[in-house]
Amino acid sequence: MVIELINTGTELLIGRTLNTHQQWIGAELAGHGYALERQVTVPDTGPAIESAAREALTRAQWVMVTGGLGPTSDDLTRDLIAGLVGVPLQTDPEVVKHLEEFCRRRGRALNESIRRQAQVPQGAMVLQNRHGTAPGMVMLVPPGRFQAGPAWLVMLPGPPRELRPMVREQLIPLLKRLSPLSRPFAGRVLRLTGIGESQVEARIESALAPLVGSGLRVAYCARPGEVDLRFDAIGSTAAGLVASAVEIALGAVGDWVFGEDEEELEQVVVRKLRSHSATLATAESCTGGFLAHRVTNVPGASEVFRGGWITYANEAKRQWLGVLATDLETHGAVSAGVVVQMAEGARKNAGSDYALAVTGIAGPGGGSEAKPVGTAYIALAGPRGTQVLRVVNPWDRLTFKQVTAQQALDLLRRELDSRKDSAPDNPQGCGR
Ligand code: AMP
Ligand code: MG
Repeated sequence: MVIELINTGTELLIGRTLNTHQQWIGAELAGHGYALERQVTVPDTGPAIESAAREALTRAQWVMVTGGLGPTSDDLTRDLIAGLVGVPLQTDPEVVKHLEEFCRRRGRALNESIRRQAQVPQGAMVLQNRHGTAPGMVMLVPPGRFQAGPAWLVMLPGPPRELRPMVREQLIPLLKRLSPLSRPFAGRVLRLTGIGESQVEARIESALAPLVGSGLRVAYCARPGEVDLRFDAIGSTAAGLVASAVEIALGAVGDWVFGEDEEELEQVVVRKLRSHSATLATAESCTGGFLAHRVTNVPGASEVFRGGWITYANEAKRQWLGVLATDLETHGAVSAGVVVQMAEGARKNAGSDYALAVTGIAGPGGGSEAKPVGTAYIALAGPRGTQVLRVVNPWDRLTFKQVTAQQALDLLRRELDSRKDSAPDNPQGCGR
C-alpha cells in the first residue's frame, strides 16, 4: 500500500516555518508499521495544491494533505480538493456546533470566515479538532477516477498542536481499520541519555546480529543529549524479535535508558519524584530557568516542584542562595564549590527534599584553558548528601542549555533509582 503526503504552505518553502509534519507523520506511521513513500511541499496557491493531489492520487491508496484549512483567504485546500474529486461542499451541523462552542468559550464571535470551516465535502468523514477550529476530513475517492482502485484522501489542519492529536487519536486507528497491514508488525523505541549513538551501537551490534539476520531492523536517532534506539520487525516472528532485542539492549546499555517511546526525561523524573513523595527545587545560572521550564512542562509538576532561582549574577548567588563571596572570588562562579552551595542553599530555602543547581560557561566568550567554553558544574543536594558533576558541552547557547539541563535531570533520575526504597515504578519495565 502506498501512502503519500502533501504539505501545503508557502511559509514552509520560504523557510519561515520548519516542516515538522513530514518528520512527525513519517515517524508516527512507521511506529505502526506503515511506510510513507513520498512527500512533497507545495505553496498555498491553487494550481500547485491541485496538481500535487491529482498526481498523488494516480499512485497512492492514501493521500494526506496538510494545511490550508483555516479561515483566511490563503486557506484553499478544502475547496480545491472537493473540486478536484468533484464533490460539493456542505455545512456539517456537528462542526457548526463545535465552532459555536469553541468561540463561546473564548468569548469570540462566530463570524463568517470561521463558519466557513464547517464546510465539508459531501460524504466525507470528519475528524474532530479538539485543539482548534478546522476539522480534519477523510474522503473516499471512487475507483476509476484517478487510478483503477479506490483511494483515501485525508485533509489535516496545519498547526502541529491540532494535527498531532488528530492523527494519533483518530487517523491512525482509521488507517488500521480501513487498510490493515497484511503481516504483523512490532516496534519499540528505547530512549537513552548520557551516551553517544556510536557507543550504543558498539555495545549492542554483535549481540543483535543474529536477530538482524532474522529480520530485525535497528535504527538510531541522536538528538542533543539523547539517543533513540528503535527496533522493529514484520512477520509472524516480529514480536519475539523485538522483545529479544529490547532484552539484549537493556542488558548492554540499560544503565543509560531513561524511558520508552514518547516519554521525556522530565516526565520520568516527575513521575519518580511523585512515586517517592519527594519535592524538588532548582538553582540555575547558565541554563537561565530552562531546567525549571522543563520540569513545569509536565502535568502534575506542582505536586513535586517547590520553585527555583535564576541566579545569574554573583550577587544573586550570594544574596538568594547564601554562596560565600570568598568562594566566588577564589574559585569563580563556575566551580564545584559554588554549585554545591547553590544546591544546598536552594534545598534549604525551598525546604525541598532535593535541589538541582547548575552553573557554567555557555559561551561564545568567557572560556579559559582550565575551564573551556561549555564547562558546567551540576550539583544535586538531597537527603543522602550532595553530588557534583563536571561536564563540557561546547555547543551553541540553546543546545548547551538543553544538554546541561538533561544531564542535571539525569543525575536526579539516577539518584531516585538508586534509593533503597526505590520501587520498580517504570510502567514499561525499562530503566536502571
Ligand atoms: P495553515 O493551516 O496552512 O494556515 O497553517 C496554520 C499554521 O500551522 C501556520 O502557523 C503554519 O506555519 C503551521 N504549519 C502548517 N504546516 C506546517 C508544517 N508542515 N509544519 C509545521 N507547521 C506547519
Ligand atoms: Mg496556510
